[in-house]
Amino acid sequence: MGFFRSRKPKADDRWASGAFAETSGDGGIGETSLTVAVRSRPLLPDERRRGDRRDIVRVLDDKHIVVLDPDDEKNYLDERTHRTKERRYTFDKAFGSSASNRDVYQKTARALISGVLNGQNGTVFAYGATGSGKTYTMIGTRNDPGMMPLSLMDIFDAIRSMSGEYTFEVTCSYLEVYNELIYDLLVNNSPSLDLREDPERGATVPGLRRISVTNADNVLDVLREGNARRKTEPTEANAVSSRSHAVMEINVRRFSRVLTGRLSLVDLAGSERASETKNEGSKLRDGANINRSLLALANCINALGKKQQGAGVYVPFRNSKLTRLLKDGLVGNSRTAMVANVSCGNDQYNHTINTLKYADRAKEIKTNVRTNVVHVATHPGEAQRVIEQLQDEVAGLKRELKAARSGAPISNPSAIDDAGVRTEDVFDDRWLEKLSVDVHENTEERINLQRALFELEDVAIQSRCELASVEDRLVELEMTGAAQIPGSRDKSEAESLRDRRRRLADGLREGENAARRDRAAMDANEGKRREIQSRIDRAAEARESRNGGKLPAFLRILSQYRTRGVSSMEAHFQLAVRDGVLADQRDVIGCMWRMLAAAGVSRERAVEAAKREGV
Ligand code: ADP
Ligand code: MG
Repeated sequence: MGFFRSRKPKADDRWASGAFAETSGDGGIGETSLTVAVRSRPLLPDERRRGDRRDIVRVLDDKHIVVLDPDDEKNYLDERTHRTKERRYTFDKAFGSSASNRDVYQKTARALISGVLNGQNGTVFAYGATGSGKTYTMIGTRNDPGMMPLSLMDIFDAIRSMSGEYTFEVTCSYLEVYNELIYDLLVNNSPSLDLREDPERGATVPGLRRISVTNADNVLDVLREGNARRKTEPTEANAVSSRSHAVMEINVRRFSRVLTGRLSLVDLAGSERASETKNEGSKLRDGANINRSLLALANCINALGKKQQGAGVYVPFRNSKLTRLLKDGLVGNSRTAMVANVSCGNDQYNHTINTLKYADRAKEIKTNVRTNVVHVATHPGEAQRVIEQLQDEVAGLKRELKAARSGAPISNPSAIDDAGVRTEDVFDDRWLEKLSVDVHENTEERINLQRALFELEDVAIQSRCELASVEDRLVELEMTGAAQIPGSRDKSEAESLRDRRRRLADGLREGENAARRDRAAMDANEGKRREIQSRIDRAAEARESRNGGKLPAFLRILSQYRTRGVSSMEAHFQLAVRDGVLADQRDVIGCMWRMLAAAGVSRERAVEAAKREGV
């Protein structure tokens, strides 16, 4: 869900969009850019009081962030191998715990405002795990108002300065997407609302309250009230609204020549995997849905990147409510900023690294779209060396090719044939560019789908385990007969267990459907992969029959380069999964030892017992 990509490759350096965040924001109509910022929140007073929490995040200047190794003491193996978990990342902007919401705003959302007053759209996302500060960043407090009120204040300031020329009308709405249902956050007990496609206005939510605002004074209260209406789970108080996405939309209509700009400010649901929260019952299902929405969002932004290359690309907006709603803010002349939130505590290390990896990929992809080479997210050592070597070779051969070409002009250099059969222009830069982009998209989609399937499987396993224990307990209650006595505690327990059983079964069924859809998408993806491969093969053959020798070698390298790149990305994914599994196992084993110790069983006795049992 984090593979965001900017839509238009820029010709200048990788900070192009970072610099753009600081400009007035009204240049470059028709192109889009994604600013990626990261923000680390401070330890809260409660966390500081606990002796075991340490701040492990350091922001070096305004771009570099370091996450220190969270382990106080190393285990023997790590110490011997000098393994450290310290990680460094670079972003368009990085904010440490002393940064105010205004600091963050100045470098992210602010750049979007002038566009909105000129009839363009913009979208600001707060991304990150539950408790990392997304809502704080978006809404904020009276002393430190967040992106939502600050945007509105700036809009009104700008309106005042332009009031001689134009009149404006500003309206706001605030809604929530929870479990793929839409609720109005500006009214009490909102029923779930429909999402309709209006041919002129795009996605609309009939019945959604839209308030007219004339200044930014009361908006903080309104937002806070709205936020309090977000869906929460009564069983886990600290997971407040972590499973819902909240979208504030500010509409600005400018009269004389009527223009409407729209700014969407999105407080996303927690990015942690469903299995990482203490989810039970219906929350498991929510977890799967939330991640689907985040995934859908990433897929759309990536596809939009591809669209800018001129190809008729399908952007899967329809895959989730969130993406349908945000569609207009993501296409055409719109701009996007993402604030990735992390908390600085050592206990949050895994969440922090996951969030930074996602945000990092956003930035990396942006760079690589520009350079038009197949991008590999993180190269595990060997693969990286090979890729770099191949990159050099490819560049060298490209140069040779150019030189060879200048002697013999190509009959129709601009024509592009997907199948690559038109051999005259096989090595046309645009042909290569399209090939690179296709390969990249294809691989990334595959990884996203793998991830989604993995997630669904995880959730299903948990649901099945819980279902089994629910069944066991029900049988137990029914055996004693106590569950038959009206008004008894056992009877009410049995009722709630039956309810839980039904919800778990629903969740499992839904998960199976989703997995079926993902597997179909995976098949389509594999079809596309084969098509790309045959494009390369056919081009190679065609060349071979004409020239023999040298040029097919070039294509072979290209093909090899592609394969290496893909396997490296996949290796990276597998490594990430394996790391997660290992970390989980380590935790479980740690817990087991602690439990045994608490029960008065020594390590030796436990080992002995395990041997006897053949474990
Ligand atoms: P999320 O919406 O990501 O789940 P919240 O925004 O609710 O997280 O933040 C969790 C807690 O941390 C809240 O108590 C919030 O007030 C506090 N917090 C978050 N960011 C900051 C910050 N930059 N400065 C001070 N407190 C913060
Ligand atoms: Mg929140």
